[in-house]
Amino acid sequence: MDSSVGNYPASNLYADVVGQEDAVSLLRAASRQPVHAYLFQGLNGAGPRRAVKAFAASLLCPEGGCGHCSHCQRALAGIHPDFVILERVGASLAVDEARHLVTLAQRRPLEAARQVLVLTDVHLAARSIPVLLKTLEEPPGPTVFVLLADDLSPDLDTVASRCVKVVFPPVKQSTVLEWLISRGVAAEKAALVAESCGGDIDRAELLSDDERFVSRLELWRSVPDALSGSGSECARLARLLLEAADSALEPLRARHGEELDSFDEDSKVLRDRSVARRKEISDRHRREERRWRVEEIRSGMGVLARVYRDRILSLLRRRDGSETVGVLRCQEAISLVTDASRSLVRNPNETLLLESLFVKLTTLEF
Ligand SMILES: [Zn+2]
Repeated sequence: MDSSVGNYPASNLYADVVGQEDAVSLLRAASRQPVHAYLFQGLNGAGPRRAVKAFAASLLCPEGGCGHCSHCQRALAGIHPDFVILERVGASLAVDEARHLVTLAQRRPLEAARQVLVLTDVHLAARSIPVLLKTLEEPPGPTVFVLLADDLSPDLDTVASRCVKVVFPPVKQSTVLEWLISRGVAAEKAALVAESCGGDIDRAELLSDDERFVSRLELWRSVPDALSGSGSECARLARLLLEAADSALEPLRARHGEELDSFDEDSKVLRDRSVARRKEISDRHRREERRWRVEEIRSGMGVLARVYRDRILSLLRRRDGSETVGVLRCQEAISLVTDASRSLVRNPNETLLLESLFVKLTTLEF
């Protein structure tokens, strides 16, 4: 076995799961005597995606996750035949895709003593979940399911109650800051990234490598002062910010390219060529890029809201009664920005959304 496949530390399978000590110790204990279904709850970038590979390695390795053997290496590289990550193709998990998982659960493991089946984005799967319930409760073979969900709505209670829940909360800002500095990121930039990443380590990693991150931040911060009242200025600002959101995709695309290269390399070394698996990775990349862009705009709106919050704080320092009107306007501005940010999930026309937000902010007459 070529020990150069992947770069995974033998001693600590969970080395790259940052700031999730509770989840990791639960998974370490679980791997010794696993039940048949786990639900990892939390944003993908906060740890579940990183943890699921390590957990699979510990379940497939005859020694419980040595980090060296072929089972460990292939699980960590995401190419073990008994470790299947089912990614949705459309906007939500289709019933047919859920049936496919049920079928997979019927099969015998190909190489290891058990198989690990992962279903992603379960928070978008409410319609298809009934297909899975019986299998989740009584998997026919030596199968361990891991379901990943950003969050859980009440209609997923039935599935949650059949799984051991492992929560991955957003990573603490101070932990992200410490982690970034330990990776050599300059303290000032690390602080800005830690504040902007929403507890998402993947996002923090990308932003810290992104040379244009600070200038994007400045662009969003400049919005209140740049709003002059003219419609053309609102349109110009919207265009600039959306162009900046496009440019924010570049580091993610570069990382996706690296992931495919590394998949190709590992497949070659381990003689495991799977066209279908490669396509699944590419499809996931496309979804991640769409999501990243939305996150970028949402994060920018968070920066904008913070500008108005800072204005409130400085107004309140006056304490002479002259601050009341300004505070009310800032509160109204924050509420407009928050509404616009929430509506991003509905896939609106982003140009219209931003232009309309800026026109409304202008009418507040700061
Ligand atoms: Zn091993």
